[in-house]
Amino acid sequence: MGASLDAVPTSGIIRIRDLMFAIERPYRLDQGDVSFAVPETFKAAMKAAIDADHSHYLQTAGLPRIQELLAAKLRRANAIPVESAGDVLMTSGGVHALYLSCQSMIEPGDEVIIPDPVWPQMLSSIVAAGGTPVRVPLHEGLGWRFDLDELASRVTPKTRGVYVNSPGNPAGGVFTRADMGRLAALALEHDLWVIADEAYEDVVFDGREHVSIASLPGMHERTSSIFTFSKTYAATGLRIGYVTTGNPAWRSRMTKLVGMTINNVSSVVQYGGIGVLEGDQAVVRQYREELQARRDLFCVGIWDAARHVFSGDPPAGAFYAFLGIDPSWKIPAGASTASRSWAMAEHLIGKGRIGCVPGIDFGPASEGYVRFCFAREREELLGAITAMEELFR
Ligand code: PMP
Repeated sequence: MGASLDAVPTSGIIRIRDLMFAIERPYRLDQGDVSFAVPETFKAAMKAAIDADHSHYLQTAGLPRIQELLAAKLRRANAIPVESAGDVLMTSGGVHALYLSCQSMIEPGDEVIIPDPVWPQMLSSIVAAGGTPVRVPLHEGLGWRFDLDELASRVTPKTRGVYVNSPGNPAGGVFTRADMGRLAALALEHDLWVIADEAYEDVVFDGREHVSIASLPGMHERTSSIFTFSKTYAATGLRIGYVTTGNPAWRSRMTKLVGMTINNVSSVVQYGGIGVLEGDQAVVRQYREELQARRDLFCVGIWDAARHVFSGDPPAGAFYAFLGIDPSWKIPAGASTASRSWAMAEHLIGKGRIGCVPGIDFGPASEGYVRFCFAREREELLGAITAMEELFR
């Protein structure tokens, strides 16, 4: 990679983080982190692993017990036809699994269809692997889903793969079973692979269904399915995720790369993962219910506080409100930028102490949007709403 890395874009979220550090008592609605603590079962198993001196090298692909538990989970909850525990590869979070997939599946010059807006870290991973991202819009009017006729029309002889992210970051769209069926048919017709980013699989609202595309006939072999403990178990800092694919060549390349990049996922954290998987899963439902309540609190609150400035429906999944900036809002005099979404972010942060991410960070077509994370404590969300009321009064 060498100097070609210099041309790989990085996310504006880093610049936002720096801006936020200069703010006293900020509302941290900028970063995608949940405010919950990890479940007690996770903590207890990590403590026990420390006391038992589980602090040595492990199998590259992961502890057999966690692979076994996850293979069973993938079959049961995701209906993915995982043949054996060895088909599950442990990674240092979802971001690592996505990076390994891009490095293992993309050849230089391959076109990869990505949603627009897209999570910028994935875009960077595709570019770093030499791929050419091709943006296909998600439509707000379709609940931030693809128009699949439009997507089909963007397939060219150079198209090799599609990045499918449902529930999606930043817009929170959830693809239906019919959407997944159509995407799978396109993949089979044009011999495309799929990277399925299922980081938010457990954050679906109003009783919606999360569908894993690799569960559909013929898809596991051509899909790399990515999961993480970060969102499901509020474990963003612990860095544990996993990937599965029915393609043995990709699996072997990814395992090789785990060996080269981290040797193995932290032993203590993998034992923690076993603890949480063996424990009561009610916590996942509790997190989801609380997130749905926070979504409603935040979206209704914004509606009351600043409906003349922001618009958008509550998302179907994930934990972000991706809101449109009203065309009547004028960039304040003295703003440091001509970008509407950056000017709005600067205004919210500088004048309201409210963290957010400008839409442009997710693609040029999203200049008229900002993203707020509502996975924060209710008190923090209410504080941000009050600050917004004052700011836009
Ligand atoms: N995919 C998406 C769409 C995400 O938003 C994130 C986290 N922000 C990830 C994957 C990966 O998260 P982690 O590396 O913490 O598992």
